[in-house]
Amino acid sequence: MLKGKTALITGSTSGIGLAIAQGLADQGANIVLNGLGDAGAIEAARSGIEGRGVKCVYDGANLMDPAAIQAMFGRIDPIDILVNNAGIQHVAAVQDFPDDKWNAIIALNLSAVFHCSKLALPNMLAKGWGRVVNIASAHGLSASPYKSAYVAAKHGVVGFTKTLGLETAEKGITCNAVCPGYVLTPIVEGQIGDQMKVHGKNRDEVIRDIMLARQPTKKFVTVEEVAATTVFLCSPGAASITGTTISVDGGWTAL
Ligand code: NAD
Repeated sequence: MLKGKTALITGSTSGIGLAIAQGLADQGANIVLNGLGDAGAIEAARSGIEGRGVKCVYDGANLMDPAAIQAMFGRIDPIDILVNNAGIQHVAAVQDFPDDKWNAIIALNLSAVFHCSKLALPNMLAKGWGRVVNIASAHGLSASPYKSAYVAAKHGVVGFTKTLGLETAEKGITCNAVCPGYVLTPIVEGQIGDQMKVHGKNRDEVIRDIMLARQPTKKFVTVEEVAATTVFLCSPGAASITGTTISVDGGWTAL
């Protein structure tokens, strides 16, 4: 379905991003992996994707730095499918929220979405085809206490998604946001520890009472489910879906 297309998935060295890269590779897309982490694990992920019969390169650009994003786009092939997935989290009350954490979350979770889209668009516009999928969050549609920077950034991503969808509506390009509920990945493992401190609860209590309290299925969403939704948004059947959000949240935002 996606043979001959090149997909950049930001933050694809682990978690949701890696599952999306694998899902797009299974449809024949060549893959650009990006993200941080252990070199051996990244090479294992890269060669595993190449084993699916597509080209796969890794670029370790730090997406908090717009100059590094620009340099990455100078190195990689022109991008047909952009999945803006890289993200970080920090949990603290507003009055205690460290300025550097606020700035880092806005830089990666929001501004990098703008910078990568800006640099991917010229090729998509020239070809008259493109897909931008932004991995936002249920926190792009609703809020939780102690996550001000993350909630602000993800709401910003949803607004950016609508705007880019409108700007490209007649150009063969779609732009949508996927809004997952809780998925058990390294970013969530980190939050379990933070929430244990903030609420004075043990691990099981945090998972049951805090994290899955608002997820009516009472199950974590899987990385494969988020990947399948992303692949669908890149398929011909999704050509008229643009400027909107798809929730993959076990019913969270229905509450
Ligand atoms: P993760 O921690 O497993 O993955 C985050 C990825 O971002 C990693 O590849 C990491 O190396 C990369 N990254 C971090 N800092 C970076 C930087 N400066 N430059 C480039 N890459 C960087 O987390 P995940 O759960 O897979 O999250 C992926 C996305 O999904 C995030 O945007 C997150 O907000 C969103 N999301 C996650 C959940 C969840 O419950 N896990 C729910 C909703 C939305």
